[in-house]
Amino acid sequence: MIYIMKPGGYVIGVDLGGTYVRAAAVLPAGRIYARVKLESGASLGYGEVVKIIRSAVENVVVSMGAPPLAIGLASAGAIDFSRKQVVRSPNFPDWRNVPLAKDVGEEFADCSITLENDANAAALGEGWLGAAKGWSDFVTLTLGTGIGGGVVLAGELLRGARGMAGEVGHITIHPDGRPCGCGSSGCLETTASATGVRRTAIERMADPGSVWLKKACRGDIEKIDARLIARLGEKGDPFCARILKEAGRDLGAAMGTLALVLGVSRFVIGGGMARAFGLMKPSARRTALKSAYTLTGAKLKIVNSRLGDDAGILGVAKKALDSIDS
Ligand SMILES: [Zn+2]
Repeated sequence: MIYIMKPGGYVIGVDLGGTYVRAAAVLPAGRIYARVKLESGASLGYGEVVKIIRSAVENVVVSMGAPPLAIGLASAGAIDFSRKQVVRSPNFPDWRNVPLAKDVGEEFADCSITLENDANAAALGEGWLGAAKGWSDFVTLTLGTGIGGGVVLAGELLRGARGMAGEVGHITIHPDGRPCGCGSSGCLETTASATGVRRTAIERMADPGSVWLKKACRGDIEKIDARLIARLGEKGDPFCARILKEAGRDLGAAMGTLALVLGVSRFVIGGGMARAFGLMKPSARRTALKSAYTLTGAKLKIVNSRLGDDAGILGVAKKALDSIDS
């Protein structure tokens, strides 16, 4: 697609997370300018979060010295695309059918606002300029506090009948496993997210093998997080390496299911846990290949995100660019 816009034209991509709201100006070729990062104020209530998003957007506009042509907004949670509402969001538990695009847009009446789920936005970003550039069929798995997923088939996001497809993090892996925030139990994210890996480590602290981890956290289990577990695993601690290997196995089981149902064989791993993925990847590959007879070692590609934290901003900016009438 060719974008026809006046010189200096740009869009703003906003990625709303539970902790931070990130915004930036994005040019049609994908270059990023004027980054802004503010605390999203999740505990302050919906009205305050809207004000913080507006403030982030205004900061970008001031830096750029001109209004944007469109704004793209990515938020965690289930999105009603026709009404541009966030139906529910795990990061903002009190939100129910909030008209986020309309409320943010009141201050920016001259430009259109598109709303997208954050994991879907990350998939669009990776497909546009990142690790999945040139791929028409792939799944992104964003490993953080939870696990987000975005499914792209034939170059298009898979939305499903009610717009909520791609909830990869809630595929059941252990039917009698840990309870999950979604109401089910044993979902992928209960064991393979940063939170899940941390919980596995804490549950096993009575194991004599946890000696390195006990030493590293100086006996304070509150200091244990996925980053520390990954660091020790990479240094050769078998206890931490095993926890990551098991998390990789669970991810591989989910990839196998996705491969069987959707016919995909390419996966992009992003999110804060992607750095720890080196220790998860061999078991993920092995399990995916074992569980999906349709996959072969040559076809299966599991790669790390190239865009990191920018994937969501770029993906939703691409959507905003596409919304501009040319
Ligand atoms: Zn769940």
